[in-house]
Amino acid sequence: MQKRKAISLLSGGLDSALATRIILDQGIDILGLHLSSPFGCHADVEKVAQSLNIPLKIINKEEAYLELVRNPKYGYGKNMNPCIDCRIYMFEIAHNVMNEVGADFIITGEVLGQRPMSQRKGAMEIIDRDSHMKGLILRPLSAQNMPETVPEREGWVDRQRLLNISGRGRTEQLALAEQLHLSGYTAPAGGCLLTDASFSEKLALFFKTRAQPTMTEARLLRYGRFFNLNEETFVLLGRDQAENEKLEELSRQAVNQEQMAFFMPIFSGPAAVLSGQYSDPIINEVGQLIVRHSKKSDAGKWPINVRRGEKETCILVQQTSSFELPVITT
Ligand code: SF4
Repeated sequence: MQKRKAISLLSGGLDSALATRIILDQGIDILGLHLSSPFGCHADVEKVAQSLNIPLKIINKEEAYLELVRNPKYGYGKNMNPCIDCRIYMFEIAHNVMNEVGADFIITGEVLGQRPMSQRKGAMEIIDRDSHMKGLILRPLSAQNMPETVPEREGWVDRQRLLNISGRGRTEQLALAEQLHLSGYTAPAGGCLLTDASFSEKLALFFKTRAQPTMTEARLLRYGRFFNLNEETFVLLGRDQAENEKLEELSRQAVNQEQMAFFMPIFSGPAAVLSGQYSDPIINEVGQLIVRHSKKSDAGKWPINVRRGEKETCILVQQTSSFELPVITT
């Protein structure tokens, strides 16, 4: 019989690793596919692929994804998580990869009833239909609770050896992982920032400042306090040393640096990244924010290095009592 091939959507977590292992054990060739998002958890997906001994392809979600998060056809979950649209987007990409490499179907670690929005039967049907993948998405952990898919019907995989897990508990998955000696996956917790209430608040403010948000900016949002300076400019202020360093690293990598400035105080205080249209008064405003968050008195003049593209200058900021804090999220 011809050896079949599948694409497995790997998140780096337990469920997708388990689903992959179950199908590998049925003799299917698998290519792991990870879709990287600025809002995803930082799982070490390479480690998971290595422990499963499968090749891995990583694709970054692009600006179209931000547009979908801003304006989802099927709406949001509890916070700014557009799970149904997000899954459709992911399956469309997986579908393209499937065609590129000549694979026959897709595997996911989804479990029926685990997530309230996208892992209900009705939602899964919409997702499969809208991504034009009806019958080609196999969910090995819950397959026996669901209609037969093409790989089962065609005998590429044995339905009897698939599972019937449902619900939010992880007991069965953890027991199975132990039994299969599975390693490398991220502990089942945390995850997508779009499900987080305070991050969603920050994201909503970000969207207000941006007609065309970029992934570079979206990547910054994970770090720091967010200040909305005006309709087209925002600032992120590091909350600790690790965030200061991350903001610096990301702003250095930014390709549109003419729209971005990085501020590093020459005293103990938070670093900041400004993104959007800016002028000298706005630069001064960011300086005020930094001094205010350094708890400096208004007596002195405080030096701050400002890097714009390759250019670095030093500004002196004196705290003014009339300065009002802009809109902020934590
Ligand atoms: S939790 Fe996040 S990554 Fe997962 S489907 Fe929902 S929006 Fe997408």
